[in-house]
Amino acid sequence: MRTILVVGGGYAGFYTAWKLEKKLRPGEARVVVVDPRPYMTYQPFLPEVLAGSVEARHAAVSLRRHLRHTKLISGRVVKVDHAHRTATVRPAEGPDFPLGYDILAVTAGAVTRKLAVPGVAEQAIGMKHVEEAVAIRDRLLTAFDRAATLEPGPQRRKLLTATFVGGGFSGVEGFGELLSLATSLLRSYPELDRNELQFHLVEARDRILPEVTDRPGEWVVRSLQKRGAHVHLNAQLLAATDGHVVLSTGDEFDSELIVWTVGNAANPMVRSHTDLPIDGRGMLVVRADLRVGTESEPVPDAWGAGDDAAVPDLTAGRPGVAIVPNAQNAVRQGKLLAKNIVADLRGRKVRPYLHHSFGTIATLGLGRGIFQYHGIVIKGFLAWVMHRGYHVLAVPSWERKIRVFAVWLTAAVSGRDIVSLASVQDPRRAFVTGEEPGEPAVRSEHAQSA
Ligand SMILES: Cc1cc2nc3c(=O)[nH]c(=O)nc-3n(C[C@H](O)[C@H](O)[C@H](O)COP(=O)(O)OP(=O)(O)OC[C@H]3O[C@@H](n4cnc5c(N)ncnc54)[C@H](O)[C@@H]3O)c2cc1C
Repeated sequence: MRTILVVGGGYAGFYTAWKLEKKLRPGEARVVVVDPRPYMTYQPFLPEVLAGSVEARHAAVSLRRHLRHTKLISGRVVKVDHAHRTATVRPAEGPDFPLGYDILAVTAGAVTRKLAVPGVAEQAIGMKHVEEAVAIRDRLLTAFDRAATLEPGPQRRKLLTATFVGGGFSGVEGFGELLSLATSLLRSYPELDRNELQFHLVEARDRILPEVTDRPGEWVVRSLQKRGAHVHLNAQLLAATDGHVVLSTGDEFDSELIVWTVGNAANPMVRSHTDLPIDGRGMLVVRADLRVGTESEPVPDAWGAGDDAAVPDLTAGRPGVAIVPNAQNAVRQGKLLAKNIVADLRGRKVRPYLHHSFGTIATLGLGRGIFQYHGIVIKGFLAWVMHRGYHVLAVPSWERKIRVFAVWLTAAVSGRDIVSLASVQDPRRAFVTGEEPGEPAVRSEHAQSA
C-alpha cells in the first residue's frame, strides 16, 4: 500500500487528508499527517478569540477527532529528501527519525514575518496562533485590572495603550475586535476614563486593508478614527524597547501591548530544507494542478498547496501571477489536492486550480464589518452579520459550528466574559507559594524565586 505524507495539518493539509479519507478505496493508500500541533487552527476566528467572542478551543479543530483513518504524527518535518522519498521528522519526544513515503503533499503554511526592530522580539506578540490570541486578550484584561488600581499618570496611560503594527487583513481585524472589547470593558471599570484608552494602528504604506479598494479602505480608517483609534499611515516602527514605541513619523508613546501583524514569511523548512523547487520568495513552485514543478519539469509524486506554495492564478489572465494566499484558497486547494492525488493514483486526468474570489469580508469589531466584491461594498452591521454567517458555515464540522454559534448566542444574551486568565501561565503559583495572581510585592518575590 502506498503512503501519502501530508506535511502540515493546517487549513490546506487538514482538507487534503479529510478528503483523501473519503475518496481513497480501502487498501489503496494510507495517509500520514505530520504536524507539531494536534489541531488545525481556524485562523479567521482568532480576532474574535482576542475579543472573547469565540472560545479559544473552538478555533482549534482536533485532527484526531476528525481524521479517524489517518495516521497522525505529532512532530515537525525538518527535512524533505524527495529524491529518496524520505522526510526527517522531529517528534515531540525522542530523536529525529526518517519517514519514507511514496507521495508527498507539502502544506506547511507560512510563518510570521519578522523584522529586526529593537525591542520587538522582547515586547511584541504575533497573532497567528490560538495561544497568541488568548495571551493578547489576557494581557489587555490584566492591564485594565492593574490600571484601575493606579492614579492617573504615565504608568496607567501605558497600561491602557495598545499598538498593532501592520494594517493588513489580520491586523485590522484584530485591532477592530480588541478595540471593541476594550471600549466595552470601560463600563465595568468606572475608575478608568475613555480618553485614557489609546489604540494605535501603525502601517508603513499609505493605506490599510489592501484586500479592499481605496475608498472602502479609507472608510475603514475613518470608522476606526471615529471610535477613538489613532491610525498612523506611512509610518514605520523604529523601536519598541521596554514598550516605548518610536515611529518614523516622529510620534512616540509607551504601550503595554504591542501586537505584530506585519504579514507572512516563507516557511523555513520549505524555503531551506527540501530538494524541491523554490521561487525567489522561498515558496514552493507548483503548477496550476498543484503538482510541484513547472509545466516542462514536473516533479513526480510531489504536490503542494496553501500559504507555502506559489500557485499560478489562472483567473488573472496572464502568466506569472500567483494566487493570494488566504483561507478561501487554502481550503479549495486542499480539496483539489486530494482529488488530484487520487486521480493520479488511478491514472486519471488531474484538474487545474481555478477559483474566482468570493470577495473580501472582514470584522472590525462587534457589530461592525466590511465586505467588498468588485464594485459592491457593504459596510457596518450587515457586513458583520455576513462575516459571522460565512465563517460559522465555513468552520469545518457541525460540532464546531454548533459550539461557536452557541457561544455567540450566549454572549448576545449575557455579554462576553471579561476575566483575565493570564494566571494559567503560572498555574502552580497559588499551590506552591499561596500567593494570588496580581499581588505586586509577592509578584517580585515570586519572580526572584522562579
Ligand atoms: C488572524 C488571521 C485571520 C485570518 N483571517 C482570514 C480570513 O478571514 N479569510 C481568509 O481567507 N484568510 C484568513 N487568514 C489567512 C488564512 O488563515 C491562511 O491563509 C490559511 O490558514 C493558510 O492555510 P495553510 O494550510 O497554508 O497554512 P496553515 O493554516 O497556517 O497551516 C500550516 C500547518 O503546517 C504546520 N507546520 C508548519 N511547519 C511544519 C513542519 N515543518 N512540519 C510539519 N508541520 C508544519 C503548522 O503547525 C500548521 O498546522 C487569516 C490569517 C490570520 C493569521
